[in-house]
This record gives sequence, C-alpha cells and structure tokens, in this order.
Amino acid sequence: MNVDHTSEELIEILKKVLEVNEIKKDIPLHEPEFCQIESDTLSDCINSNFVSTSGEYIEKFEFELKKITGAKNVVSVVNGTSALELALRSIGIKRSEEVFIPALTFVATANAIKYCDAIPHFVDSDVNTLGIDLLKLENYIGNNCQFKNGNLYNKKTDRIISAIMPVHVFGMSIDMEKILNFGKKYNLFVIEDAAEALGSLWREQHLGTFGDVGTLSFNGNKIITSGGGGALLTNNDSLAKKIKHISSTAKIPHQWDYIHDEVGWNYRMPNLNAALGYAQLKKFKNILYKKKLLANKYKLHFQNSKNFSFIDQPKNCESNRWLNCIKIYSKDLSFRNTLLKNLNDFGFRCRPVWKLLNKLPMYKDCPHSDLSNSIKLEKAIISLPSSAFHIKLNLDTKL
Ligand SMILES: *Cc1c(COP(=O)(O)O)cnc(C)c1O
Repeated sequence: MNVDHTSEELIEILKKVLEVNEIKKDIPLHEPEFCQIESDTLSDCINSNFVSTSGEYIEKFEFELKKITGAKNVVSVVNGTSALELALRSIGIKRSEEVFIPALTFVATANAIKYCDAIPHFVDSDVNTLGIDLLKLENYIGNNCQFKNGNLYNKKTDRIISAIMPVHVFGMSIDMEKILNFGKKYNLFVIEDAAEALGSLWREQHLGTFGDVGTLSFNGNKIITSGGGGALLTNNDSLAKKIKHISSTAKIPHQWDYIHDEVGWNYRMPNLNAALGYAQLKKFKNILYKKKLLANKYKLHFQNSKNFSFIDQPKNCESNRWLNCIKIYSKDLSFRNTLLKNLNDFGFRCRPVWKLLNKLPMYKDCPHSDLSNSIKLEKAIISLPSSAFHIKLNLDTKL
C-alpha cells in the first residue's frame, strides 16, 4: 500500500463530498456557523445588563436542553470538563477510588477523575462503536477484580472501583441497556460523558439520560456552542439539587446574607454564554439535519473504497454525526501520520483520534486492562471535516 496513492484517493473523496475544487483557506475539522440570531440574542443579553451568573438566558437555555434531551433536570456550567467533575462529586466519589473509563477518550474524562483525587482505570474499546467493550471488561473483571460486601475491588491495588464512565465517542453509543445492567451488577455509578452527543439517541432515548448523571459540552468545536460551556443531565432530583448547590459556591438562598454551608465551586454558566447557546439551539434541528446529510454523503463516497471504511452509527443508535471518521488499514502510526501530513498540507485539517490516555505522562501508572482494540483504533482512525455548513441549506428550510 502506497501512502501517496492513499492520500490522493482520500483528497479526491473529500473534494467531492465537501464540494471544493481548490482550497483557498484551510478547511477545519469542525467549526460553528453564526448568523443574525446569535448577534441579536447576544445584544439583547448585553442590553439586559445580566451577563454573569444569573439571568433569564440560563433558564431558557436549560429549558430548551430539557426539551431536546428529555432529561428531568439540566444544570448548565462553565464547560464540559467541570460538568464531569461535578458529576463525580455529586455521586460522592471518594479519594483513591477507581473509575473505569476508556483509554480512547479526550483527556478531560480522566482529568475530572483526578480533580477528585480518584484514579482512572483504563479499559478497552469496541472497534465498531468506539465505546467501552463490555464483553471484554466482563472478562477482565472476572480475572482481576473481586466483588465483596457490595463493592467491586481491584485485586491488585485493593481499591474500590465505584463508577464507570461510558464516553459516546463522536456521537455514537454502545448498548445502553447492557451498561446499565453492568452498573447494577457491580454496584457502579454510571456517568455518561455525552460531551459529543447532543442530539444522539439510543433506542429513541437521548444519550446522557441513561446513567445516574450525563454531561454535555458546548465548546466551540462541538455540535452547538455557547463559546465555552457544559451541562449536567440527571433524572435524579436529589442529585440535581446537589449539583446546583455545589456548582454555585454552595450558597444558601437568602435575600441578602452570604451563607455557604460547604466548600463549593463557581462553575455556573454565565448568562452571556447561555444567550449564545440558546440562539444556537434555535437552529439545532437544522444543524442536526445537515450533519446527517453530510454523514450520508461521506458514507456513500466511501462505500466502494478499498483503502478506507467509514465508521457508521451502531445498531439502535441514531448518532448526531458530530464527527465523521474513517478507518485506514495501516500497520503502524507512521503510515497514518504521513497520510495526515499530506491531508493537512493540502488544506484539509483532518485529525487522528486521541493518543491513548495511558500513554500520557500523568496517567502512565494508572491501572489498565488489555487495550489491544484501542491500540488498533489509534492507528486506524482519521477524523474528517464535519462542519454542518458544508451542506448548503437555508435556515428556513422546512424540516
Ligand atoms: C469536549 C469533550 C469534553 C470536555 O468538554 P470541554 O467543554 O472542552 O471542557 C469531555 N469529554 C469529551 C469526550 C469531549 O469531547
């Protein structure tokens, strides 16, 4: 296999799908698109004088998120990482407890665990769903863990494993029924990192609403953005109450006095960001529709390729198609890297998947299972430009 021919083939496909002939400006991986709605909503917010941690756009934004996700409670916060941290704190994760997470995820998933002085325990991913491989994990637990007195223990470290965090990579999901049963069986809290999955469904239920808590991100590269931002979803009212409390300096509501009953965080989303997020949600149906069209277009163009296979949404999952990606058949990282270099030199800002987290210096000593699938995926995955605006469709098009 020749990397130059492979690059040429991929560049040709990208040109066709994205409808570009020559590249004047680099085509990014994922970018938001703003119009009058965002400017108007932001000016309205500024004119109201409420730009900070209270204001009507926060309520409006959370209300719209409830409608979209079906979550009983939504708490918006400053970013997806802080949402993950608060999710862990709300369930009462303790120092030195271990948490199962995939090695194949964005670093924030592990960082949030570290902020709580807990320990990421890396597990392998499934080559098709890109989420945790539960069969493999079940096997691993059989050999390496022990369930006693209602808790799962890591036999090697003798530490309690208290939670599992499935990550819905690129908007796709594993079998959510299975992970919930898995959580029950081993007494693990289930926290869904749904940062990439706003608009994604599993059996018609929104991702992030299955586990004890789910989290979203509205960073600039996600399917909608509030500049920076995140949210927690939970159907558990007492967890929601706790999350709200500790995200807003643990202040007891009072007409004028400053009473805080524990150490809290200042993580609530500012009204200004909520205004931007709210304006983006007005276009959400349109964005989601375009993302699906773009994914179908990619799928079609990769159908007959011998060098690439398009990673499609798994069974029972209706993905938001946040990021389209393909697998290349490469034995090593150097083939992948040369391909990426050629694509980026041409102007397509394609990206690899994340470096496996157990390879990063701060996580290299954390416990991990066999990661052979993740190692394969790291060599094989290339993410493709996926901004919704590559599909030309008027905002007022009836859907
Ligand atoms: C983006 C992302 C996050 C973190 O969100 P921020 O808003 O950037 O803090 C966490 N997990 C995953 C999988 C993400 O893609």
